[in-house]
Amino acid sequence: MKFFLDRIEREKLTVEKMIHIFCELKHNGKLCSNCTEMLDYANERLDRCPYKNGKPACIDCPIHCYNKIMREKIREIMRFSGPKMLFRHPYLALMHLVDEKKKKNGAEAPFIKSKKKESKK
Ligand code: SF4
Ligand SMILES: [Zn+2]
Repeated sequence: MKFFLDRIEREKLTVEKMIHIFCELKHNGKLCSNCTEMLDYANERLDRCPYKNGKPACIDCPIHCYNKIMREKIREIMRFSGPKMLFRHPYLALMHLVDEKKKKNGAEAPFIKSKKKESKK
């Protein structure tokens, strides 16, 4: 594993760990086909994220690029696995909280800023 991960790589790893925890405890074992589908979908969304490494936390994203079904699934996974991440993957859990806090403190993705500037014209 690379030591320094960019934001997208780190989010992919965080989502992967969360899905693994969820599947292990809810579906009893290795990654099942449903969870594999969720993981592939999340990775594909991150690959196509228009904000790239300046992205907001997906939960705060104005685009919400997930379809309705997948959005519900990932929310369920995050609700379940989020608290467990603190014990299993504390660094990733901490960075996830930092990313969410950045937005709440007013930091925004570049794309959002430029859209706001355009709308003021
Ligand atoms: S929900 Fe928003 S931040 Fe998350 S991957 Fe999709 S476009 Fe990017
Ligand atoms: Zn599963």
